[in-house]
Amino acid sequence: MEVVKKAIKPKSKGGLGLSMPIILRFPDVLHHRLSKLQSSFDGAIRAAHYDGCYRGVFPVKCNQARFVVENIVEFGRSFGFGLEAGSKPELLLAMASLCKGSTEALLVCNGYKDAEYICLALLARRIGLNCIIVLEQEKEVDLVLNVSRKLSIDPVIGMRAKLSTKHAGHFGDTSGEKGKFGLSCAEIISVVSKLRHAHKLHCLQLLHFHIGSQIPSLAILNDGVSEAAHLYCELALMGAAMKILDIGGGLGIDYDGTCSAQSDMSVGYRMEEYAVQVVQAVKSACSRKGVKHPILCSESGRAIVSHHSVFVFNVFSSSTGTNTQTEKGVALDVDDLPQELKDIHGRLISCAKACDYNGAFEHAKMLKHRCCALFKQGEFKLEHLAKINEIYNVMYEVMEKGKTGVNSAHMESNSVCADYGVGSRSADATYHINMSIFRSIPDLWAIGQLFPMIPIHRLLEEPTLRVTLSDLTCDSDGKVDRFIEKDSKGGKLNSLRVHELEQGRPYYMGMFLAGAYQEALGSLHNLFGAVASVAVWKNRSVKHGFKVVEINDGQTIGDVLRVMDYDPREIMRTFKLHMNKPPLHLDPHNPEQETTGFVHILQRALSSSTYLRSRRAT
Ligand code: PLP
Repeated sequence: MEVVKKAIKPKSKGGLGLSMPIILRFPDVLHHRLSKLQSSFDGAIRAAHYDGCYRGVFPVKCNQARFVVENIVEFGRSFGFGLEAGSKPELLLAMASLCKGSTEALLVCNGYKDAEYICLALLARRIGLNCIIVLEQEKEVDLVLNVSRKLSIDPVIGMRAKLSTKHAGHFGDTSGEKGKFGLSCAEIISVVSKLRHAHKLHCLQLLHFHIGSQIPSLAILNDGVSEAAHLYCELALMGAAMKILDIGGGLGIDYDGTCSAQSDMSVGYRMEEYAVQVVQAVKSACSRKGVKHPILCSESGRAIVSHHSVFVFNVFSSSTGTNTQTEKGVALDVDDLPQELKDIHGRLISCAKACDYNGAFEHAKMLKHRCCALFKQGEFKLEHLAKINEIYNVMYEVMEKGKTGVNSAHMESNSVCADYGVGSRSADATYHINMSIFRSIPDLWAIGQLFPMIPIHRLLEEPTLRVTLSDLTCDSDGKVDRFIEKDSKGGKLNSLRVHELEQGRPYYMGMFLAGAYQEALGSLHNLFGAVASVAVWKNRSVKHGFKVVEINDGQTIGDVLRVMDYDPREIMRTFKLHMNKPPLHLDPHNPEQETTGFVHILQRALSSSTYLRSRRAT
């Protein structure tokens, strides 16, 4: 909270003058994750008396932000940590960053390639980088041989293998024999024979595979690594100058705190156990086949960068949900109603009292249907219609909660049964949040990924409200109504516990573990732009001290308009032209001054944030 206050305080008062929402980056956390990964492998290698070393690379697609990539290169310089690229722009940024890194560091080039990509990768070798071209398709080998002949630069080649190992988690589709990427066994043999024929078998030095992100268990990891390690040994025995086994990404993280392979938001192992498993599986395959232990490379992305940033946003208003409005739940003053409706309502109440929620919901539907019909005929008052809609909504929520299992415990309990009239507790309200799901949490919308979210202040006050979150976009998918929090039976909850908003006091929340993938995947839906970011460094000379430095101030309205090919200068010229010939119905007094003021407002809008201006934190 102190960081947020400093970030949004006006520059004139010593702050950074940024507007919400903001990404807080914690480079010390990044450093810690990287060191932990390296030391996990170093420890496993020592313990197993493994002859090779560990040389990881960071797949920049996880977060291409310059601050992140350059910090990884700097923190990893002492142990030769490298980068992985999957496209030409990623390769160029990785080359530029690694020029400042260790000469030992690897630069792994994945992804489909054309001659230009291969040319860039070869030039990377020319400028002294340890660049390896990983073939994703068999035909790429011809391209590599052609381009390298033209440039007279010998390539170092890797091959991505299509393993039979597959995991069943969300990201498992990458893997398996029908996976999108890599070479089959037959294609691998064909590449070896082409290289041998071209007298370039010495260039083949790396075998790569990736069985998908968030590998759920050590058993699946062991399967994949063992299969690949045997493949690696076969290639070595076929005469390739094999040196490196690249096990891809997939080291998972624990989003929901369960550390369980059964959860789709977690994995059943710790980083150290992952490293031990890899080292043991490779050692065992190499011992069996009498092959020298390879350098182990991994392309862990999520596990390195997820923890380093916190996305902070503010709540700007709330709308009360059905629960608080329907304090009396399904009760209804039936005096004015036609007998037909009184009867339906009576049956609804009986079902509810007997905890027959299906029955009660059916009657609620019938009640709503009949009321709408009567309203259309002009025979019903708006107040009644509103009340009956509320009753329907209460029942609808009860049914929804029943479906997700959220409230099954409650639905069975007599106390809630008796308490039925007060309305079952799903969301009490919707909090409107100053951010775009599509920009800042695209995975939540696209693949149902959940992230921990909590308020970042008022932490000594009990949060008494359950809410869902609704973002700024004009899109019904722009909402958060699934959370990692669980009910007493382990079911996922569709509302989040927060504090009640207080008049005149801003409310800030944080989304955690969001440092991987979200920033690059985020879209410009409704033209909400990239958000501001700051770096928070620990200040070791002061107890609990920290230093906040602006990294960037986010995209302005002008910036996002430019992305869509509008020219803000041209827009301003058009506005000014029209400002000088005001509509005839206006009778401007002092037109000179007014025009200048209006032009200033328009100009300021183009250079301001795409998000809502928020009140300052106190
Ligand atoms: N390497 C490759 C080839 C990938 O496709 C991916 C992501 O899917 C990664 C590395 C990074 O995976 P993760 O972030 O799960 O470590």
